Amino acid sequence: MSGRSVLVVGGSRGIGLEVARQMAEEGDRVAITYRSGEPPFGLFAVRCDVTVPDDVERAFAAVEAEQGPADVVIINAGVTRDCLLLRMAEEDWAATLETNLTGAYRCAKRAVRAMLRARRGGRLVFISSAVAMVGEAGQSNYAASKAGLIGFARSLAREYGGKGITSNVVAPGLTETDMTAVLGKERLDHIIAQVPLRRIAQPREIASAVRFVASDDAAYITGAVIPVDGGVAMGH
Ligand code: NDP
Repeated sequence: MSGRSVLVVGGSRGIGLEVARQMAEEGDRVAITYRSGEPPFGLFAVRCDVTVPDDVERAFAAVEAEQGPADVVIINAGVTRDCLLLRMAEEDWAATLETNLTGAYRCAKRAVRAMLRARRGGRLVFISSAVAMVGEAGQSNYAASKAGLIGFARSLAREYGGKGITSNVVAPGLTETDMTAVLGKERLDHIIAQVPLRRIAQPREIASAVRFVASDDAAYITGAVIPVDGGVAMGH
């Protein structure tokens, strides 16, 4: 499937951008969506906020016009709104679920429709988190959204496996991006102490797993949750 049409939703920085760059280097035609700021240089980019249904429709249509219907869709857009449950406002809960889970529903639905129409199978890859399996104090909204992605992805694996569409999840542990740059040294040290490999991940390490599960070599893998977490959630 070289020269495939790939779309990374939420590909303007961090893990998503690294995935996009690696796949472009391998010869895929790669588009990304960005929500704010300027898009990164060198990739076809479409503005899209996954909380806005029309944005999702417009972004997919623009990518299709540029490089054909997406064979591979990486659903990576995500946010955190960390706080303990008793301080968690409805808005903190709703905004997290709306982006991380409902946004994924919108993108996957649009992606699958085009894949079925194109009749050449496809790859859906959802970016969840180790926190989906083991939980984290202060992240109940985020953990719920990321755990929801697993049930969602596995259901799609069953619905569309017969059409050659695989649906898998990559579950990173703490990774060095803007999302984790806000953590203080004390919190970071505390987290690292619980990681068997005693460090956080680099985006390229998450991207390697995403590339694999999106590749021809992973044609018989669907409904899988692939941990890239230094061992932090092993056994779950
Ligand atoms: P970043 O915060 O660096 O990047 C997040 C990306 O998602 C950005 O491209 C951002 O766009 C986009 N995004 C956020 N909200 C929306 C929205 N409403 N609509 C469209 N795009 C949106 O995060 P990471 O690279 O660290 O994380 C990527 C994914 O990996 C996320 O799903 C995250 O939950 C998950 N993850 C990250 C871990 C980590 O430790 N970093 C660990 C486990 C999982 P914009 O630039 O416009 O804000």
